[in-house]
Amino acid sequence: MQNGYVLKSVQAPEKEDLQKINQYTRRPFSKEEVYTFGLVLCDNEIDRDGERFSVSALYGLAGLFLGKSGLFNHSMDARTQSARIYDTSVETDTSRKTAAGEPYSRLTAKAYMPRTKGNEDLILEIDSGIKKEVSVGCAMGSAVCSVCGADRRKHPCGHQKGGKYQGKVCCTILSDPKDAYEWSFVAVPAQRAAGVTKSYPPAAEESEDAAEWGRRWKEHLTEETTRYFSLACPGVPAASAKKMTESLSPEELEQVEKVLSHAANRRLPLQVQLAPERTAAPDENNDFRI
Ligand SMILES: [Zn+2]
Repeated sequence: MQNGYVLKSVQAPEKEDLQKINQYTRRPFSKEEVYTFGLVLCDNEIDRDGERFSVSALYGLAGLFLGKSGLFNHSMDARTQSARIYDTSVETDTSRKTAAGEPYSRLTAKAYMPRTKGNEDLILEIDSGIKKEVSVGCAMGSAVCSVCGADRRKHPCGHQKGGKYQGKVCCTILSDPKDAYEWSFVAVPAQRAAGVTKSYPPAAEESEDAAEWGRRWKEHLTEETTRYFSLACPGVPAASAKKMTESLSPEELEQVEKVLSHAANRRLPLQVQLAPERTAAPDENNDFRI
């Protein structure tokens, strides 16, 4: 699984940044009023799930992440603090090759938040590098085997992810992004919470299959969310937690699951907290990192 992370904060927003930011604000903001920072959302390297984004998918996601809000850990609070992505771009490093032999590309984003009294601590945390891992979610329309091109959602082709075929590592190639969801900061990421969450909505024409996938996904998500609910808020009876999660729409369910899993992890780490794992060389991006 890939981890997104914060780049060194962008100091003062340029005029061009302000123009983009002000498309999302109710009134024009001056550069003193906003805090901006950079993020790497994802890249085309093979991740821990044996999957990788195609480069065209990164470009698609670049459009989909525009305007998307990022939530911070205090999300149980009604006055949730958030930042918003106002600019994205795909950067390619032709001198570096991925395990699949492609030039390394990554999707970067710039985000802003208003400088308010309530945000002071948060800004300090970002500046100091405490909040540097981000978790992003997206829905991908296509997931095919890198060896034979078979649709992984429909036809198990027998090629093993991570296996070598004619000298090349087999993985699942994700493309055709359908949606990007809210992203969130993960201060001390539990392994499962950090990184890129990908979902593969089934093709629309396969209604029977689709219904089955949808049913199972909802069931799984409801179960997980209920569990996190009980962990994050031990006072709430399990039956009530279940009732509440069952009434949510799929989008709400995905958001709430994410928020509650973070809250639950803070209360009681579900597993050993691992240092964020990066598959890349240790010196990579260090200049940019906080
Ligand atoms: Zn295959």
